[in-house]
Amino acid sequence: MLHMQDIDLNNKRVFIRLDLNVPLHNGKITSSERIDRAIPTIKLALKKNAKIIIASHLGRPKENQYDKKFSLFPVFKYLQKKLYGINIIFLQDYLQGVSIESNQIAVLENVRFNPGETKNNEQLSQKYANLCDIFIMDAFATAHRVESSTYGICSFVKKSCIGPLLYSEIKTLKRIFHKSQHPITTVIGGAKVSTKFKLLSSLLKITDNMLVGGGIANTFISAFHSVGRSLHEKNFKKIAKKLYETKKIFLPIDSLVSTSYSITSTAQEKLISNIMPNEEILDIGNKTIQNYTKKIQKAKTIIWNGPMGVFEFPNFRKGTREIAQSIANSAAFSIAGGGDTIAVIDLFNLKNKISYISTGGGAFLEFIENKTLPILKKLKY
Ligand code: AMP
Repeated sequence: MLHMQDIDLNNKRVFIRLDLNVPLHNGKITSSERIDRAIPTIKLALKKNAKIIIASHLGRPKENQYDKKFSLFPVFKYLQKKLYGINIIFLQDYLQGVSIESNQIAVLENVRFNPGETKNNEQLSQKYANLCDIFIMDAFATAHRVESSTYGICSFVKKSCIGPLLYSEIKTLKRIFHKSQHPITTVIGGAKVSTKFKLLSSLLKITDNMLVGGGIANTFISAFHSVGRSLHEKNFKKIAKKLYETKKIFLPIDSLVSTSYSITSTAQEKLISNIMPNEEILDIGNKTIQNYTKKIQKAKTIIWNGPMGVFEFPNFRKGTREIAQSIANSAAFSIAGGGDTIAVIDLFNLKNKISYISTGGGAFLEFIENKTLPILKKLKY
C-alpha cells in the first residue's frame, strides 16, 4: 500500500478526502477536533509542494439541493484562520475542473450535494478522478462508506494512497484490540440507530457487557414496553429481543421524558415501563446512571460511542455528562469514537482523561467488527 509520506507530490494535483464533518450550531463549529486532526495531513501536502484539493461531506443533505445548513463554508473559514498566510479558496462549482497552483488549497463544497455521491456513482467518481493526479484517502470517519469520493474515485485515478490520519487510526485500533483487558464494557448511544444496530452482534462478541442509551436503548425498550414518541427503529424489535438474550445488554430502567422536543423542553423522570403515547425519552434517569456507573467502575477496557440522551438540550444533558465523567474518571483504558462523542468530550472538558479518541464513530465500530474497511482492501492494505 502506498503512503502519502512516501510519494512525490511536487506540483501534483492531489485530491485529499478528509472527514471534516463537524457539529455546527447556528453556523458555528461546536467541536473542531476532526478538523484539527486533519491539519497535519494538509500541512504535509503543503510541505510537499502539492496543488491541494480538499473534499469532505457534512451531515446528510438531500442530493442536488443546496442547503446552507450543510455547507462546508464554516469549515473553510476555520481552515483559513488555522492556515493563516496560505492561499486557500472555497469552490462551489468544481466538477468540470479546478484551476489550482502549487501550495494553494481549494476546499470543495460538501460532496454530498453532488447527485450519486452516496451511491458510489461511477460518472461522479470519474469526475472527481479527472480533477487530480493522486487521490489521498484520509477520512477515517467515513472510511466504512462506499461512496464516490471515498471509494469509487480509486477506480479511475492514476494513483491512490492512504493518508497519515487514516493509517494511524487503524494502526492504533488494531494494537488496542489485540491487547485489551477484560472486563470490556461497551457504552453505546446516539441516534444513528439502524447503522449501529447492525454492528451490535459483533460488538457483543468482544464485549463482556454493553450499557445502552439514546435511540439505541429506545429500540431495545420498544421490544418490551411502549416508548411513546421516542426515537426508535420499529424494524429492529425482533433482533433487539434476540440480542438481549445474550444477557450482556443493560438497558435504562428510568428515563427523562418530555412531551416536546426543543431546547427549552422540561424534563420529567419516569420509569421505563410507564411512558405515555405523547411522551419521548430524551435521556437516561438517575437510577440508570447509578447502575451504569457501577459497571464502568469495574471495567478494565471501555469502548464508548454515542451520547446517552439529547445532550444538546440542557435539561437532557445529565445522563451523558455523568456517564462521560465516569468513563473519564475510571482507571480502565478508554476508547471513544464518533463526531458527537467527541463533541461531548469537548463540552465537558474530558479530552485529557480519555485514553484514545478516534475521529470515527461508525467506522470505528465497523473496524472493530470486521478488522478491516472496504477502502483498505481497495488500497491493498
Ligand atoms: P450519533 O451520531 O448516532 O452518536 O447520535 C448523536 C445524536 O443522538 C445527538 O445529536 C443526540 O441529540 C441524539 N440522541 C441521543 N439520545 C437521543 C434520544 N433519546 N432521542 C433523540 N435523539 C437522541
